[in-house]
Amino acid sequence: MTAPAQPVDQFDLVIFGGTGDLAVRKLLPAMFHRFADGQILEGSRIIGVAREALDDDGYRNQIRSALNGAAESHPGKVDAFLKQVHYRSLDARKDDGWDDFAKLMGKCPDHVRVFYLSTSPDLFVDICQRLGHYGLNKCESRVVLEKPIGHDLASANRINDDVGSVFAESQTFRIDHYLGKETVQNLLALRFGNALFEPLWNAGHIDHVQITVAETLGVGRRGPYYDHAGALRDMVQNHMLQLLCMVAMEPPASLSPDAVRDEKLKVLHALKPIDDSNASQLTVRGQYRAGAAEGRSVPGYIEDLNADSKVKVEKSNTETFVALKAEIGNWRWSGVPFYLRTGKRLADRVSEIVVAFKPVPHSIFTASAGPLAQNRLVLRLQPDEGVKLWLTIKHPGPGGLRLRHVPLDMSFAEAFGVQQPDAYERLLLDVVRGNPTLFMRRDEVEAAWRWADPILAAWAGSGEAPRPYTSGTWGPSAAVALIERDGRTWDEDFE
Ligand code: NAP
Repeated sequence: MTAPAQPVDQFDLVIFGGTGDLAVRKLLPAMFHRFADGQILEGSRIIGVAREALDDDGYRNQIRSALNGAAESHPGKVDAFLKQVHYRSLDARKDDGWDDFAKLMGKCPDHVRVFYLSTSPDLFVDICQRLGHYGLNKCESRVVLEKPIGHDLASANRINDDVGSVFAESQTFRIDHYLGKETVQNLLALRFGNALFEPLWNAGHIDHVQITVAETLGVGRRGPYYDHAGALRDMVQNHMLQLLCMVAMEPPASLSPDAVRDEKLKVLHALKPIDDSNASQLTVRGQYRAGAAEGRSVPGYIEDLNADSKVKVEKSNTETFVALKAEIGNWRWSGVPFYLRTGKRLADRVSEIVVAFKPVPHSIFTASAGPLAQNRLVLRLQPDEGVKLWLTIKHPGPGGLRLRHVPLDMSFAEAFGVQQPDAYERLLLDVVRGNPTLFMRRDEVEAAWRWADPILAAWAGSGEAPRPYTSGTWGPSAAVALIERDGRTWDEDFE
């Protein structure tokens, strides 16, 4: 039986952008689940902030409808939760209302104050400066920064410098919700809680690693943001590099925040550069065209961009798909390719890490036994989080020795019979507890941009447009060629 979740100490959580998509769809439902599990004590407050003129009741009504699905599993708890939810109408760029807000927050309360910046990053500095002006950065105050932190190294540094002039690094929590996923933490447990894997976890035994983050959705309402970002900035520079680090880092001496982050940083520093000398061989960019997704016809990227926008565009140079081959230049990983691919409107919605082991050095089996497949450890992040270890066994029964490749399969939902908590549930309470292990330190963000910037520069310099791919496929054929050139294939065994 699992131990009941421990409550956290009383806190105030202020969500700037409290009426936005992320707050309503993810952050507030996450807090509701933690409340329903008894982790949020009476007296804690969740305060939504945005410009919209609402009072507490108006905001509570918005949140009540957003909690619909979540409320079904905890009937009767919604009203009690909403009593802890409040709202203040404030413009991050205007002074009105800030005096009252500062009074609401108190001078130096004996509980933690968390300021979650769930707004566009161009408001981060305005918000932090005003918080600083009212002394709300003092005492037990923390700030949470949503991605994206900048669009390149220089802009990330500007944001980090400006936020850093108000909040110390120890108060700053840069969120990457992939790190809060159960499977990612399970990677730590698998690697460092079992004696089995570590001796094999190196270039001597691992053939290659694949990381896929595939979406079936298009850009939807995020078009204006996305068209300035693209898949490399939106997914690879943050989420996918963080996953790569968790696979590749050396065993940290402990789970203390800096021990883990120091090891991740070393991986980022050891990534081999991709720049204009090799980007055309090691990277593929794509952009989706009209096609079919989840059984219905869907428009292409340009039509999606134009759907909600007054200014119509005829073309865009933004990639909605990236595949690339990364390498880590250190003793453990020398010669082991890490193939990364991510995209929108792909054939399936799946996020997975595949660690493919080297084939056995010599086969004792005859051809009639069938082919010998490589062992693979597959860590599924979504949907249906779980771990599969693919092994070769004998096909049961008579008929000679025939080989079969089967998974030792552990779906967390089936194995533990409980719904897995959303990543934000864990991460929000980690901020309240003051545990930054699963958050990005400033030097990690910088190292990730330092690797990504030359790729972006090489693409810009080449003048090549992203390759078109039909919605509902696995991206441009060049992405298949990228891995097949090396005699390998993308793992598409997603049942
Ligand atoms: P959104 O739906 O556009 O919401 C933006 C929020 O900011 C709204 O509540 C808006 O309310 C408020 N706001 C805008 N200007 C303001 C101002 N001057 N002063 C105070 N509040 C202001 O955006 P979102 O999708 O929630 O995303 C928020 C952040 O999270 C972005 O940085 C995004 O990149 C990041 N993110 C989002 C997701 C997601 O799934 N949505 C995932 C990962 C990261 P008013 O207009 O009423 O002020």
